[in-house]
Amino acid sequence: MALMITDECINCDVCEPECPNQAIYMGVEIYEIDPDKCTECVGHFDEPQCMQVCPVDCIPVNPAHVETRETLWQKYQRLTKSGQSLSAADEGPPLGTPSAAPTAG
Ligand code: SF4
Ligand code: SF4
Repeated sequence: MALMITDECINCDVCEPECPNQAIYMGVEIYEIDPDKCTECVGHFDEPQCMQVCPVDCIPVNPAHVETRETLWQKYQRLTKSGQSLSAADEGPPLGTPSAAPTAG
């Protein structure tokens, strides 16, 4: 899912430099998130960085842009592909693969 910034934003400028995708920009009155660029930090970090640093907790999930982790991963790949060649990025999505426990016996 892409995230969004609500009007509780106090324009503290903290989140903008933290975004690895340059998805955060200053809008007309408050900061905004470009849903085409926000991967919820998938591909870069375990947690959404902007959410972590926001002092007023005004960055919820954008209900208009609900995406699976795999879709976010693909978005991340699209974003990085346009800028650089893929290296470690083509290993596939970091989805928790259910480990088949060896049932001995
Ligand atoms: S969740 Fe990550 S990618 Fe999305 S806007 Fe926040 S810092 Fe940027
Ligand atoms: S960290 Fe939160 S309050 Fe600060 S600019 Fe970003 S969204 Fe607004």
